[in-house]
Amino acid sequence: MLATQHAPMLTIRNPSTGEVVGEVPVTPVAEIAGVVARAREAQVGWAAKSLDERASIILRAKDPLAAAAERMGSLASREMGKPIKEALGEAKHAAGGLEEMVKESVEALREEVLEDASVRTRLVFDPYGVAAAITPWNFPILMPVQNVLPALIAGNAVIFKPSEVSPLCAQAWAKCLQSVLPEDVLQVIHGDGTQGSALIREGVDLVVFTGSRATGMAIMREASGHLTRLILELGGKDPLIVLEDADLEAAATFAVRNSFRNAGQVCVSTERIFVHDAVADRFTQLVVEGAKTMKQGDSADESTQLGPMASARQKSIVMKQLQEAIAAGAKCLVGEGDDGAAPSEGNFVRPTVLVDVTPEMSIMRDETFGPVAPIVRVSTDAQAVALANDTPYGLGAAVFGAPDHAARVADQLTAGMVGINKGCGGADGSPWVGSRHSGHGFHGGKYGTRQFAQVRTISRSKA
Ligand code: NAD
Repeated sequence: MLATQHAPMLTIRNPSTGEVVGEVPVTPVAEIAGVVARAREAQVGWAAKSLDERASIILRAKDPLAAAAERMGSLASREMGKPIKEALGEAKHAAGGLEEMVKESVEALREEVLEDASVRTRLVFDPYGVAAAITPWNFPILMPVQNVLPALIAGNAVIFKPSEVSPLCAQAWAKCLQSVLPEDVLQVIHGDGTQGSALIREGVDLVVFTGSRATGMAIMREASGHLTRLILELGGKDPLIVLEDADLEAAATFAVRNSFRNAGQVCVSTERIFVHDAVADRFTQLVVEGAKTMKQGDSADESTQLGPMASARQKSIVMKQLQEAIAAGAKCLVGEGDDGAAPSEGNFVRPTVLVDVTPEMSIMRDETFGPVAPIVRVSTDAQAVALANDTPYGLGAAVFGAPDHAARVADQLTAGMVGINKGCGGADGSPWVGSRHSGHGFHGGKYGTRQFAQVRTISRSKA
């Protein structure tokens, strides 16, 4: 146990109901140096194993993960308000997708040979040493999977700090891995930014972080003292462009799903919509109708499509942006701010569609991370592209239109991942990558996975 008897506890409440879900001990900052020291010791033996040995040990976690999936999903749903069906799907993927994830990492990290006429070079992928994996709450099981597994397979020992909003499901996931790993190769610490930054200041060798842009910047500052390697997957302000030749039903279905899924608490949620004048009225009507059909409620209810915001803090960020936009002239067609409707209670925010928004409003500039779809009319492709790219973020983007037309527009977008008539996720093996302020380093696929290791070249003459 990492925490002493006197450590304060982190109490987790269900954002749908306010009920206590459970508690974990906050790791005292004074204990973090010891955690890092134990990780350093354990890492030596772990790195001495071959890549295939490490992979086969991790694969033994498949059964424990499958056995824990129902509990992990239920905890995730109760901790952060994800509808139970989606939370169970996420938990089951952690078990069902394990082999595929391990295989992808092993293939990426296997030695590679490069040769020219005179030199033969081996590319060798070494662990960095001790990695800190710091994760957010919005995909409270998937994010640990993506941040921790490749680091372990590369031969790093990992100290995992899950979000203070969702530590219980994350801890349940980590326990499954700890049950098969050598002692201290994976340790968990609990707490918020205090523990996160203390961990980084201890001089870990790699920080794998998924979270907000502001925290990414703070981490970069903390890590600069040790020139620590960083992989930062950060927030976004994803645009959706709807061209005049788009299939409007498909575009609106996507807009509704991608703006409101997980109550908009998805890094690649659609947060800004640019629609051509010629089709704007019909598209907007379809999005409003779609928003009205979304069933919002307790995340434990199987029919719920939209739960609460994960916390009162998250709700207050969304409501502040909405209120500012409406005060500055934005019009709410449905949702919070809808004339005559009382504001939602508790942590809930109704799916909201805004028009008459302007580029300087915070709802068009800052990440909202809530169920809000602001729609802007444009008259040319060039205008849509300029507005879509007018952001420091660059995570995902989508363009709906006739395929060749949409592809020409997609090529001009600066986001790291662009979808044409679909969301931004790529084919198997594609990286998950944010450009500009949405990422610094990335993961997934061969090139992303290799960032969890130090590449070394060993060359000899052929003569
Ligand atoms: P957050 O940045 O507030 O917190 C993320 C984690 O960092 C938490 O574990 C937190 O305790 C920790 N932390 C906070 N301050 C820290 C510090 N100074 N040093 C070290 N650790 C610190 O983010 P959040 O609210 O938990 O998650 C939502 C954010 O995550 C959104 O911006 C979302 O877009 C982003 N996100 C990005 C991706 C992606 O793939 N790019 C995926 C999921 C979520």
